[in-house]
Amino acid sequence: MICNQFVFIALGELLLYLASSVSCKCWRNCRSGNATWCYSKYGKPDGQWGGLCKWGKCQSPIVLSKCRSTEFYFGPLLFYNYDTPLGYLLVSNNGHGVSIDIPEILKISISGGPLASEYALVNIHWHWDRTEHIIAGQSLILEMHLVHRNMKYCNMAQAMKFSDGIAVLAVLHRHSAKSSFYLKKFLPKNFNSYFTYEGSLTTPPCAESVTWIVFTNFLEASRKDIEKFKNARLADGSVLERNFRSVQPINNRPIWFNKPCLRY
Ligand SMILES: [Zn+2]
Repeated sequence: MICNQFVFIALGELLLYLASSVSCKCWRNCRSGNATWCYSKYGKPDGQWGGLCKWGKCQSPIVLSKCRSTEFYFGPLLFYNYDTPLGYLLVSNNGHGVSIDIPEILKISISGGPLASEYALVNIHWHWDRTEHIIAGQSLILEMHLVHRNMKYCNMAQAMKFSDGIAVLAVLHRHSAKSSFYLKKFLPKNFNSYFTYEGSLTTPPCAESVTWIVFTNFLEASRKDIEKFKNARLADGSVLERNFRSVQPINNRPIWFNKPCLRY
């Protein structure tokens, strides 16, 4: 049973509504066995995720560092309609986190950088309490994923079958007393500084079809912002303690650090 609570909101006002949207009484409850997968508690390995999650060799997230990556300039990332007013969108609570599906009619997409074709923005979601990717040993507090589907594939199910099916922009947030966490500003000001590598979805089925673009410039989120995410609760009233996956082995995969050659 999927029990989402949908709340119509303006995206820029999301934080004002998060508390109500995540207090849904009908979360799929991992602990009752109704969910197909769940996150494990602190100090324990990830849940019993099977298939590629267990056996894949190109899994995400990973630890990223400049000394472990190769500098290369991929050319600029291009953003289409990222400044389009988003109007009212649906916030869903699926038992694993807070998520917003982006209607394709908005025609928001990216290309350029390491991407060989155009990718449409289809979903935005967050991982909190700790970021999934770790940059230079820093464990930050919140990671936003902007999930894009290669437009040559009809849907996500098809895209997940191909190595070039999905591109995810990852924006990491560090804790700050002063919040700069405005959802209308999805990206850091410098979006030319990023790591990129071939990896997977960080949730089941962990399809190895993701070109990851992880920005190295962080945004900031205040404790008050984070508490709104941490209001997420399971059906039994307990908090969703974590919704991040632990880092995975790199397995000799190349990792690239985009470095514009003319300005630096
Ligand atoms: Zn994610």
